Amino acid sequence: MVSFKMRILVIIFFFIHVGLQAQSERTSALNLSKLPLIQAGQEASNKTQIKPPLLVHNFSIIIDPGHGGHDIGTQSISKPRYQEKSLNLVTAKFVRDFLQQLGYQVTMTREEDKFISLEKRAKIVNEQQPTIFVSIHYNSAPIAEAQGIEVFFYQFKDDKECVIKSKRLAYAVLKNIVAETRANSRGVKHGNFLVIRETTVPAILVEGGFVTNEEEMQKLKDPVYLKRLAWGIVCGIEEYMSKLN
Ligand code: ZN
Repeated sequence: MVSFKMRILVIIFFFIHVGLQAQSERTSALNLSKLPLIQAGQEASNKTQIKPPLLVHNFSIIIDPGHGGHDIGTQSISKPRYQEKSLNLVTAKFVRDFLQQLGYQVTMTREEDKFISLEKRAKIVNEQQPTIFVSIHYNSAPIAEAQGIEVFFYQFKDDKECVIKSKRLAYAVLKNIVAETRANSRGVKHGNFLVIRETTVPAILVEGGFVTNEEEMQKLKDPVYLKRLAWGIVCGIEEYMSKLN
């Protein structure tokens, strides 16, 4: 026969056990309810780091870093000699990265130091038919004082709508580069360059500064400055795109 004391102990043990179990369930319930929140939060922050929330555009852009390979373009007078082909590529990659972060579909005519003919570049553009084409170059002049930024478009295309759009893009890009860099503006100009003449979409050629001007070359050596210049190009593109329907 179970003694009275033993019965009391069993009852106490029972209530302690039930109490602990209930507490444990509450704890696990709390943990479970917290867990998805933490996971969801972590997932969200990881997504933010890897892929920023994108504005999805239907617009596509071809960025063309001028020259490449044995075609170095122009180069600085001072040593070490900075070659235009490299400055073009660095700037173009900054432009591409910014544009992709903004949700644009971007193609580059070259992503490494290799030669591509002008005809091939135009062919790539005409086959892909992007919304716009932007060629990136740096300038040189026999006069060391020459400095500043100019943007070219080709004005004698049969497609007048394309000419108007190219001109509008050129003005938007120049304005924004100058605002970002405080560089000297040499204006928007007509340029008879194959890549903007033979392409059948709105096309511009940016001359981002003179490597033959010591003052300007000092700035072009600085990746922070090139990034600012690239951001200026991107802001100009954004301005132009925002006015398309
Ligand atoms: Zn060039």
